[in-house]
Amino acid sequence: SKAKLFDEKTDTKTSFKDVAGLEGAKEEVQEIVDFLKYPEKYTALGGKIPKGALLVGPPGTGKTLLAKAVAGEAQVPFFSLSGSDFVEMFVGVGASRVRDLFKQAKEKSPSIIFIDEIDAIGRARGKSNFSGSNDERENTLNQLLTEMDGFGTNTNVIVLAATNRADVLDSALMRAGRFDRQIYVDLPDVRERKEIFEVHLRPLKKDDSLDIDFLAKQTPGFSGADIANVCNEAALIAARKGNKTVNKQDFLDAVDRIIGGLEKKNKIIT
Ligand code: ATP
Repeated sequence: SKAKLFDEKTDTKTSFKDVAGLEGAKEEVQEIVDFLKYPEKYTALGGKIPKGALLVGPPGTGKTLLAKAVAGEAQVPFFSLSGSDFVEMFVGVGASRVRDLFKQAKEKSPSIIFIDEIDAIGRARGKSNFSGSNDERENTLNQLLTEMDGFGTNTNVIVLAATNRADVLDSALMRAGRFDRQIYVDLPDVRERKEIFEVHLRPLKKDDSLDIDFLAKQTPGFSGADIANVCNEAALIAARKGNKTVNKQDFLDAVDRIIGGLEKKNKIIT
């Protein structure tokens, strides 16, 4: 079968209701939803609609989820691509993939393009620590810049990109008319963790013993993705025990297991 060029989803059902916490970030992207839905409201006064925004924050904090929710709220197609897909690409393929992606998105505009892990292609030019594929990466980055510059004022495609390393990005990406807005997506505090638990507890059969405040307090440093994992693990643990509902102990066991996994991951990194 032919390799997939990029993901396109037109059945974007994700909404802001699925994104817990992140009030500031949601407020900022609400504006992007508005640009996509009512572009003439802005262009009528001579304003230029921004072309791109960078979502910056640690892994698993909901950047992809938020980008999908923007598409869902605006009811526009969502085209996505991950920077890490480009790492082992043959010469010329990266740039042509970017070209195809923008072509499709323009044809289906208004639309959203989402580039996950943009640091994999957007590292400052000439500063890569690995040689070889470097030229190809630069070609891909240059194509991305060319495409964004080529947008007319009425293109109505907005490019969202995510990274947890905004510091390594080529400054050309952040120039006016490109990713000139940065939106921070941080790890959740205790109140936000509670809201994230509420979202991911929805589909579970919960025991009355469950105390969401307690769970939120037991999980400092957890990302939204970690919390989603805890909820799923707890349900699996309860099922393995043959329980009819998911109880507090199942959650404590799941939290322990996730903490164990996080510790292992950190050991590999350091
Ligand atoms: P990465 O940087 O690793 O790509 P990310 O910031 O894009 O991570 P997502 O892929 O959006 O994170 O999050 C993974 C999953 O974690 C989501 O699909 C969702 O189930 C859950 N999640 C993360 N953040 C939230 C949140 N704020 N509210 C609800 N669920 C969340």
